[in-house]
Amino acid sequence: MRDETIALHGGYTPDSTKAVAVPIYQTVAHEFDDADHAAAVFDMDIPGFHYNRLNNPTNQVLEHRLAALELGVGALTLSSGTAAVLYSLQNLAGLGDNIVSAPQLYGTTYTLFVHILPQQGLEVRLAADDTPAAMEALIDDRTKAIFCESIGNPAGNVVDLEAVAALAHFHGIPLIVDNTVATPMMIKPVEHGADIVVHSLTKFVGGHGTTLAGGIVDSGKFPWADHPDRFPMFSRPEPSFHGVVYPERFGDAAYIVRCRTVGLRNAGATLSPFSAFLVLQGLETMSVRLDRHEVNARAVAAYLAEDRRVSWVDFAGFPDHPYHELSERYLKGRCSSLFTFGVVGGYDAGLRFFNSVKLFKRLVNLGDAKSLVSHPASTTHRQLTAEDLKVVGVTPDMIRLSVGIEHIDDIIEDIDQALSAACGAE
Ligand code: PLP
Repeated sequence: MRDETIALHGGYTPDSTKAVAVPIYQTVAHEFDDADHAAAVFDMDIPGFHYNRLNNPTNQVLEHRLAALELGVGALTLSSGTAAVLYSLQNLAGLGDNIVSAPQLYGTTYTLFVHILPQQGLEVRLAADDTPAAMEALIDDRTKAIFCESIGNPAGNVVDLEAVAALAHFHGIPLIVDNTVATPMMIKPVEHGADIVVHSLTKFVGGHGTTLAGGIVDSGKFPWADHPDRFPMFSRPEPSFHGVVYPERFGDAAYIVRCRTVGLRNAGATLSPFSAFLVLQGLETMSVRLDRHEVNARAVAAYLAEDRRVSWVDFAGFPDHPYHELSERYLKGRCSSLFTFGVVGGYDAGLRFFNSVKLFKRLVNLGDAKSLVSHPASTTHRQLTAEDLKVVGVTPDMIRLSVGIEHIDDIIEDIDQALSAACGAE
């Protein structure tokens, strides 16, 4: 099936009720026939559910759909994208290890990497830029993965995934890609060598600003067993789960099964089935929404580029953009509706613009059907020092737009009046 069809039908076979919408299994546990049945489910000898911190039939449909769209052997849904980022790393790295990351990161991911994980003994080394050359210098024998966002939020960089994956594999480590901004409709990181894909499903997948959710997809391609010393969690018996050796028992799905049976089971960032249902509703229409988001974004970017109250527009759809070639290659001629621009007059003018919009929603989210605006320097990234801001690519005047699917004339009229309030009439 093609993506548009998977998004509507993937992973769901109606039960005896023939319900056409995926049912919400709002239950905590599932009954066992007897002790033997319970043991078989617990040991994962047969498919089934026991306790919904670990798995749930509604969530499983979303997991199957996500895995199919991202070309994976399996997926795990979680309560937020942040949990997905954290679990993806904790499943393969621990005390004394390190992760090498591209520097262009979502604000909370940056905070997690630079301030939180190091306190727990997991170092994250931010490369000077998103090129393999900058990353290679940081890799050593305790490096357990390379991490990047396929399209950086809010930086808008497009990572050369094939080159970074080749570097990772040369060093015997997996590439983990946060594909939130691109979505699997625009970039499929696994096609380009990524081993693990993470998502905030809160954004374009849910698509309506209603629900926090996250997901991890396992490509099934990383040869954990070939690197027993680097990844002891995939070569030694797992003490917390029947002494199982994951690749021996679960084959290609070793990583994602461990993420469920160790990560989710013991840390518990479970997605509620009702939230999974809402994300499934969003996923059904994602492809048509993305088309409209893109048409509107191109029109807004072109409008801003012509306006003298705007000092710069960072839109990878423009031929002279530094990431245009990579964007064309990886997004196959498409472009993201998330981009940034600068208001003439710096931080204060940026704030005035932000305060003056009427249709755009002033908030910190992206990928909603509604048009959204943020001023990263005073919101998502306000905890960062001036030095940190430079590293993640945020400038004081930067306005980030997530262009929605309203009528384009209404969107542009709102931008025009907010620019007038910030800088005067054009
Ligand atoms: N990754 C990216 C690229 C994001 O933009 C976000 C949130 O904006 C996250 C991860 C975290 O997702 P959540 O808000 O669902 O925890």
